[in-house]
Amino acid sequence: MSDPSLLAVEGLKATYVNAITALDGVGFTLARGEILALLGANGAGKTTTLKALSNLLPAERGQITGGHIRFAGLDVTRTRPADLVRAGLVQVLEGRHCFPSLTVEENLVSGGLGRGATRREIASDLDKVYAHFPRLTEKRRILSGLTSGGEQQMTAIGRALMSRPRLLVLDEPSMGLAPIVVQDICRTLRRLNREEGLSILVAEQNAAVALRFAHRAIVLENGVTVLSGTASDLKARDDIKAFYLGHK
Ligand code: ATP
Repeated sequence: MSDPSLLAVEGLKATYVNAITALDGVGFTLARGEILALLGANGAGKTTTLKALSNLLPAERGQITGGHIRFAGLDVTRTRPADLVRAGLVQVLEGRHCFPSLTVEENLVSGGLGRGATRREIASDLDKVYAHFPRLTEKRRILSGLTSGGEQQMTAIGRALMSRPRLLVLDEPSMGLAPIVVQDICRTLRRLNREEGLSILVAEQNAAVALRFAHRAIVLENGVTVLSGTASDLKARDDIKAFYLGHK
């Protein structure tokens, strides 16, 4: 039987070299065209989960000690990070990681070069990114390191889009940004989801932002999935309101 989900994570366990158990049973699925939020407090295991999805834990001196991850039919732990990008799993890491001494446009182009795109494909994908993020059009010739935090986040997302993702994974995209900038970015991502069917997985400490943005969410606590549900169900739960939305 074919697997209807784009991403399936089951019983995921992971430890770091210092013997810290970061994940102790994380499980969720993400359907094609879905926006799923991964919620949890500081240290709950969100970043570790995202790194595991791209098979990046070995580079962090961590390892998966149990469970399975399948993305688009691939066994993630047996697939190299670069091959996962080629298969369409593309991450925007925490802290944005633009190349500060390259221009905004050079940063964007690097996303296309990474997947071996032709010049013509790069030109047409650039046009699309500028249409989604008009702010970047004005800044295209500016060094990325000289642009604002919001513009750097847009550049990092734009660069990821240049890799033509099937699943875009974002780690704490709202961190350090003004609410109006976060709103603008979330609106653009929702449009990409609606119009182009882009699937999105977003890890967020800011549950209020994430539950407005996502269709569904799971909550991690100490490396374990403790809750999952639709965004509207979770928003209505008193325990979620108290712990994550900051009011009772
Ligand atoms: P944050 O929002 O602070 O990034 P998080 O939910 O993303 O939190 P993780 O960063 O995944 O949580 O951390 C889960 C656990 O793993 C924590 O106990 C953390 O201290 C530990 N940890 C994370 N990265 C490493 C590392 N490179 N080496 C050792 N331990 C780590």
